[in-house]
Amino acid sequence: MGVVLVALGGTISVSGGVRGERLTGAEITAAVPGLEELAPVDVLDAHAVPSGSLTFGQILDTVAVASRAVAEGADGVVVTQGTDTLEETAFLVDLVWPHEEPIVLTGAMRQPAMAGADGPANVLAAVRVATAREARGAGALVVLNDEVHAARWVRKTHSTSPATFASPNAGLLGHVVEGRVRMLLTPPPREPLPAGLDRARLEATRVALHVVTLDDDGARLDGLETTYAGLVVAGFGVGHVPGVLAPRLGALAERIPVVLTSRTGAGSVLRHTYHAPGSESDLLQRGLIDAGFLDPYKARVLLRVLLAAGNGPRAVADAFALRG
Ligand code: ASP
Repeated sequence: MGVVLVALGGTISVSGGVRGERLTGAEITAAVPGLEELAPVDVLDAHAVPSGSLTFGQILDTVAVASRAVAEGADGVVVTQGTDTLEETAFLVDLVWPHEEPIVLTGAMRQPAMAGADGPANVLAAVRVATAREARGAGALVVLNDEVHAARWVRKTHSTSPATFASPNAGLLGHVVEGRVRMLLTPPPREPLPAGLDRARLEATRVALHVVTLDDDGARLDGLETTYAGLVVAGFGVGHVPGVLAPRLGALAERIPVVLTSRTGAGSVLRHTYHAPGSESDLLQRGLIDAGFLDPYKARVLLRVLLAAGNGPRAVADAFALRG
């Protein structure tokens, strides 16, 4: 049946004109050598904005469009968008994608008019993965630079390099080589959450991210619970904060879910190795929730989805235990 490609904007769609016009999905796919012979591609244009301006609601709209396409017989779906927030949007899609058919997110680091533009190669590889038997059941995948990453692990690690995407905790899942999809690792197990979130409730469910820094007393966290339904803390190393900040976080955790992650970029937070004030075991005793291997950005996505769906503190903790 072929692939449905949803175009959402980003560098892959920058036309090079001074007025900020964007290429349509049809113009993006027309520039991909060999695509026509590979698979029929139906193109849909939606939300042509820089990825930093995308919303959870727009991504869930895209999931709904993709779900309909799969229900109508598509072998898989490709989404093109900006790379800046791809690690967050891909994880959001993965959390709610209920199908066996793959949904593959891709983009480009170089604009179409630049020497060595990577968009066409990335679209071609993404379509190959979207139609590959090997990718079925893998949920949301990120494909750039002929590499296949699980949405669960992928990070943008460089501001300009075409090899920016990496999965520091797990390694990449596979490669596209000579047009073949070669999966090297098994994708992480998935338990999709309901995609049908009430939009008004989602919009009202704000989740803050606080990155802890040297000599940080967290004064800006005061009163946070009046505006935010949850907080993710990106702590030092294995999940530590300055001792003076610990009581503030503990008090917040009595009001709203507070999730503990590491700001390091890889590795998990610990549970019971250090015991000083502000250490991981002190914070967990004060009611913070351990995010395991989830990085701060992905933890924030999960927490917002859980809270928007009406989950209470126990269900939130259980979900992080399952997915962290
Ligand atoms: N600023 C762009 C965006 O995320 C960067 C990109 O597409 O690579 O929309």
